[in-house]
Amino acid sequence: MTDALLGVYNRAPLTVSHGQGSWLFDVDGRRYLDCVAGIATDALGHANPVLVKALAEQAAKLWHVSNIFRIPGQEALAERLTGASFADVVFFGNSGSEAVEGALKTARRYHFANGQPERIDVIGFAGSFHGRTYAAINAAGNPSYVEGFGPRLPGYVQLTIDDEAGIAEAIARPTTAALIVEPVQGEGGARALTGEWLKRVRDLCTQHGVLLIYDEVQSGMGRTGKLFAHQWFEGVEPDIMAIAKALGGGFPIGAFLATREAAKGMVAGVHGSTFGGNPLAMAVGIAAFDEIAKLETLSHVQAIAALLKSELQALAARNPDIVSEIRGKGLLIGLKLIPNNRDFMALARDHDLLVAGGGENCVRLLPSLLLSEAEALEAVKRLELACGTARERLAKAA
Ligand SMILES: *Cc1c(COP(=O)(O)O)cnc(C)c1O
Repeated sequence: MTDALLGVYNRAPLTVSHGQGSWLFDVDGRRYLDCVAGIATDALGHANPVLVKALAEQAAKLWHVSNIFRIPGQEALAERLTGASFADVVFFGNSGSEAVEGALKTARRYHFANGQPERIDVIGFAGSFHGRTYAAINAAGNPSYVEGFGPRLPGYVQLTIDDEAGIAEAIARPTTAALIVEPVQGEGGARALTGEWLKRVRDLCTQHGVLLIYDEVQSGMGRTGKLFAHQWFEGVEPDIMAIAKALGGGFPIGAFLATREAAKGMVAGVHGSTFGGNPLAMAVGIAAFDEIAKLETLSHVQAIAALLKSELQALAARNPDIVSEIRGKGLLIGLKLIPNNRDFMALARDHDLLVAGGGENCVRLLPSLLLSEAEALEAVKRLELACGTARERLAKAA
């Protein structure tokens, strides 16, 4: 392995050669069942022919033009996204962090446009993940992501999800601009917020003129069996929402969506991107959207998620010394473990199953939305084998 790469990743000793659907092949031809899917990104599986075709056709026509020109693909994808959500307008970037960054800028600009530039504070929550830019790390406040990067930015307030009184008090402050939260916390360990929690926060934000921002970078685009996770609940729509990951089915795209009112400060010249919304990304994004937003895809996700939930709960009941809880929503699934989650990921890999890590000692399953029933059962079988190996290890260590 070269030392020419910055060492910021804990990489598994696995070199992927290619993928097909829910399967990845390493350079030695070994085949893995992929329940990581690029961390909820390859939502339609690997080498999906619909996406391959969209990319190849666009690649032969036009890759990139500046946003100083009209880009028809952006208009088409924005129409789809606004047609399927609370939003009126969309801005395209290239990543989840950029989407979050734009969402936060939009919120502050809204209050500026309203003649209240003092409203800058953003409420964020412990256990959140919003990406790696300065705004994103300050909004999430994870100590290990902010340490050593200079002073914390002003205007960020950190609370815990369970601190009802603190949340109400912070929303009511005259300097509060926005509240940002993931309806299902992803990296934090697949923690799904309840409809009651979201409704209470929505109502408080409305009452005090605070903008509600959802980070659906991981939970959005079909992951939970609705196009967006918050759509499981009535009356909880946000003012602004960040999405990315599955939006491009593996091609880098991010976007933030907003109501026209919330976006009113974002006028010509105040924000932009060189690559954001380029024709290649839009061609794949449109193809991915049309596949994911299909009723049959979303109902497939709901069915496979229900199957996995009951199978995994049975697995947890059979292995109470290894798995303490099954959590999450849809195909954003967390297994809270008793043995170390990083060790368990390696054991799963030994059984040709790829799973992702997560907070609170979880491993996450974030498979392709097209995972078949047979593949779902195969994943459970391999997890059971990994539980067996984990038990042997624990016995040996004792
Ligand atoms: C992955 C993720 C991000 C950051 O996305 P990048 O594309 O890595 O910048 C932000 N928010 C959530 C909820 C995520 O899961």
